[in-house]
Amino acid sequence: MNLFMKNFWRRQFIGIFLGSLIFFLCGCGERKPVAVQTTDTAMGTVIRQSLYVTNGSTAAADEVMELLEALDQETLSWRLETSELWRINETAGQKEAAVITEEMAAILKSCQEISEKSGGAFDITIGQVARLWSIDTWAAGGEPRLPDEKAVAHAVDRAGYRRLSVNEREVCLPEGMQLDLGAVGKGIALSHIDSLLQQHEEVTGAVISVGGSILTYGTKPGGGSWRVGVANPLDTSASIGYLELDGGWCVSTSGDYERYIEIDGKRLHHILNPYTGFPAESGVHSVTILTRDGLLSDALSTACFVLGVEEGLALAEECGVEAVFVDFQGEISMTAQMEEYFHLSQ
Ligand code: ADP
Ligand code: MG
Repeated sequence: MNLFMKNFWRRQFIGIFLGSLIFFLCGCGERKPVAVQTTDTAMGTVIRQSLYVTNGSTAAADEVMELLEALDQETLSWRLETSELWRINETAGQKEAAVITEEMAAILKSCQEISEKSGGAFDITIGQVARLWSIDTWAAGGEPRLPDEKAVAHAVDRAGYRRLSVNEREVCLPEGMQLDLGAVGKGIALSHIDSLLQQHEEVTGAVISVGGSILTYGTKPGGGSWRVGVANPLDTSASIGYLELDGGWCVSTSGDYERYIEIDGKRLHHILNPYTGFPAESGVHSVTILTRDGLLSDALSTACFVLGVEEGLALAEECGVEAVFVDFQGEISMTAQMEEYFHLSQ
């Protein structure tokens, strides 16, 4: 073989080798997912996305952010004049009922059911009471100003889920009542995100948190379970434990450690007892709910926080969801089935 032929075969061999390597790395067209991570804000909270995407594209993550903006602006926000909720609240006390979308009817119906089951511990009609406290603005650095007790009592009187009438097409708010979907918005968002990701074939798995509500989606590259941490309310830089989950779960936590101020040694947080109009004092620092339904996980974390350990556990069992409570003594209580998913931190 002359030198020319030798070089020819060597080139051929290198070419075939490189070709095979690329083919192998691409997995016969099924490419290995790469991690895409983003942190942003929407719906007044932090959105953390960790996606596994076969083409490395951020398109799905970008669409999630657009979806959250749209959900807030068009449907859920009590602050924005553009939302359906704003339009509903504007009709309080009017003779004409507010005409609502199918989605809003479904949301309000679910909320009403949870209010019934929780004996009113969860109640979206407390909008006026929540505005009086405006704890979110204090926690964000605003000037704390305790609301006038009479004004709170008055707003409590005008609230009450039993006074809200809702059907598939209309909702009727009595004078002075305002709806607040703050306790369910992030959970509702999780279900929307799940549907969006299903339209993105390139996304094989994801964990996305919308404030205190977290969605697991799809599978982890290389197998194994997703790990979702449960914060330690006494030291939020640490966690008390973690949940080991496959895709399709919603995990929502309500706690007194995220948005609060302290006045005379008393912690005033943003989860209200609808009967008193004051921050709930049920002896728990946090409640984490695990279920496949976003709205339910978010609503029940709020409801169980208001109810406390004993009644909260009973409600979680009744609703078929799993729950972990951390009380003022730092003790952890959970539903029986939760032990399958929850692991204490070492
Ligand atoms: P976060 O918004 O921090 O996730 P929650 O899901 O517990 O916490 O929701 C708290 C928000 O829900 C409050 O900011 C207020 O707007 C509203 N809210 C407070 N207490 C109640 C309640 N008992 N029932 C329904 N909504 C509530
Ligand atoms: Mg909630």
